[in-house]
Amino acid sequence: MKLIKAVRGTKDIYGDDGIKYDFITKTAQEFFKNYGYSLIKTPIFEETDLFKRGVGEGTDIVEKEMYTFQDRGERSITLRPEGTAAVVRCYLENKVYAKEDVSRYFYAGSMFRYERPQAGRQREFNQIGVEVLGESSPILDAEVISMGYSFLNKIGITDLEVTINSVGEKESRVKYREVLLNFLNPMKEDLCDDCRMRMEKNPLRVLDCKIEKCKELTALAPIITDSLTEEERNHYETVKKYLNLFGVKYKEDPRLVRGLDYYSSTVYEIVTNKLGSQGTVLGGGRYDNLLKQLGDKEIPAFGFAAGVERIMMLLGEDFPKRDLDVYIAWLGESTMDPAFKIANDLRLSGKSVAIDYNSKGMKSHMKKADKVGAKNVIIIGEDEMSKGVVMLKDFVNRTQEEVSIENLKNILK
Ligand code: ATP
Ligand code: MG
Repeated sequence: MKLIKAVRGTKDIYGDDGIKYDFITKTAQEFFKNYGYSLIKTPIFEETDLFKRGVGEGTDIVEKEMYTFQDRGERSITLRPEGTAAVVRCYLENKVYAKEDVSRYFYAGSMFRYERPQAGRQREFNQIGVEVLGESSPILDAEVISMGYSFLNKIGITDLEVTINSVGEKESRVKYREVLLNFLNPMKEDLCDDCRMRMEKNPLRVLDCKIEKCKELTALAPIITDSLTEEERNHYETVKKYLNLFGVKYKEDPRLVRGLDYYSSTVYEIVTNKLGSQGTVLGGGRYDNLLKQLGDKEIPAFGFAAGVERIMMLLGEDFPKRDLDVYIAWLGESTMDPAFKIANDLRLSGKSVAIDYNSKGMKSHMKKADKVGAKNVIIIGEDEMSKGVVMLKDFVNRTQEEVSIENLKNILK
């Protein structure tokens, strides 16, 4: 029989990877709580128009990466390629802005993009991300950048570079667009097909092209920083000032534009040199125009998204593995029922317990206890059982003592 395999570009997360995924997402959620973030879960699919309008018609995501299909009711549905548009949709639809000044959300989950699969690039992948709606202060920009960076450091990922830029508001970008087009026009024929299309739709994105030849040709392109207004410059300066205050080292990259249309003002990425061309671990920025685009509201916003699979690759073996409180070794049929009763009681009292369903000798019990990484072993023999005691072996401190069954819970604290 032919085995059915996972679809190209998708990856199962199980075993140690499952523990790693859990560690990353749970630590993030706990850590971001310190900054006032709470969980948001939006549907995995949305109306296609949300992403067309939100992410932008000329972007790689909308042009070539979306999983779009007709459902049975002939609606055009798209599996979410990113998290921000849906969070904003939920915020606007539920008029959250009328209930609170600032909203801070954290999310974790699958995103879908039809890309060429390779290490660190999948068609279904996971992101953790945050969105803040309702705050325009540049201090927020610095705080969010610092929060993501500190989180990555906290779970053991160092050697990261924070690159930042300001792409200004719409007027500055329109001005810059002209300047940039004047520079690009003479080399149009030498740029890749995608870049020629980007020149029509959003010339800034030419600077985001991953192709070497395009990078070389545009190396001396004029920079957007020169087109910013004084207010935009001040905002950017304050972001940098607070990044210094929070102890975040950063590099300015005037070519950093990011691949989504909704960004304005501050944009940034956190990059590693350990994952080849899939080196961006986290990206984000300010998107003050998106709420206008989707709901005609003047509400400022800032956020980031990080790729969980890329974080998992960077973590390698360096994460807290499974730890098991107790392995229960029962010897002889008559000890089986009491053993399972003890296992059940300990689990209900909050201990993690492993126990085997089949009768085993002492030697294979010990092997198994070692394999599952138990901190303690409770040995239940027929003689001890009749006296109401068990043998407790502490693997960490290498001690062994006889304990009454009643007392087990207290001793295992
Ligand atoms: P890239 O330039 O690598 O394509 P991007 O700019 O498209 O990234 P964003 O849309 O900003 O990425 O998403 C934020 C993060 O999500 C990325 O920095 C990356 O870590 C992760 N990510 C994006 N696309 C994929 C993918 N196809 N597979 C795995 N992770 C991804
Ligand atoms: Mg991409």
